[in-house]
Amino acid sequence: MSVEEILANLATVQATISDAARESGRMPDAITLVAVSKTHPAERVRVVLAAGQREFGENRVQEAQAKWPDLRREYPDVRLHLLGPLQTNKVAEAVALFDVIETVDRPKLALALARQMAQAGRRPDCYIQVNTGEEPQKAGVMPAEADAFIQACLKDHGLPVVGLMCIPPTGEAPAPHFAFLREIARRHGLATLSMGMSGDYLTAISLGATHVRIGTAIFGDR
Ligand SMILES: *Cc1c(COP(=O)(O)O)cnc(C)c1O
Repeated sequence: MSVEEILANLATVQATISDAARESGRMPDAITLVAVSKTHPAERVRVVLAAGQREFGENRVQEAQAKWPDLRREYPDVRLHLLGPLQTNKVAEAVALFDVIETVDRPKLALALARQMAQAGRRPDCYIQVNTGEEPQKAGVMPAEADAFIQACLKDHGLPVVGLMCIPPTGEAPAPHFAFLREIARRHGLATLSMGMSGDYLTAISLGATHVRIGTAIFGDR
């Protein structure tokens, strides 16, 4: 992808988000674009930063550690989201580096995050990932356990949980998954819904997404 192509893609995605928001009777700025920069080198990320984009998503702690400290020095107001599974032995690095951890999905991780946040004095926003498709190989708390887990994160661990995240199964219509996630969030009074990727963000916005996570439609194929 050339610089021109990336910038054109970014403008198209921004315009599409605004149009989708208006069609749903929502304000365009009610939806935050998280540009997913995983696997893409820093020079390509810089193009998007220079165009004003500030929220980014990465899947791996190690990759983000290699890429983002320098970019952050150039752009201190960046907000970095962790989108991939988090192992408990990487919690210290994750709390130090990320502003949002979107993949909180099990009690052991919740406890480790709470301890690390207390120790580090840094409290990244947390989203609970829900495995809405109940896929055995996928991360995320199972729907049947979601209510209890969300309450445990808030009450027992005191985590700064502000929202939910899901990745619908590939090859299934995403809308029921997005509607389901929204319903769980509503029950718990959580305002943030991270749902929608390059292939399905229009649907996600129509169902209340506040954050869409978009990689391919901006940076091209990985
Ligand atoms: C890679 C990834 C995305 C971006 O996917 P695209 O289809 O490239 O837009 C969004 N969310 C998560 C959790 C991802 O791993």
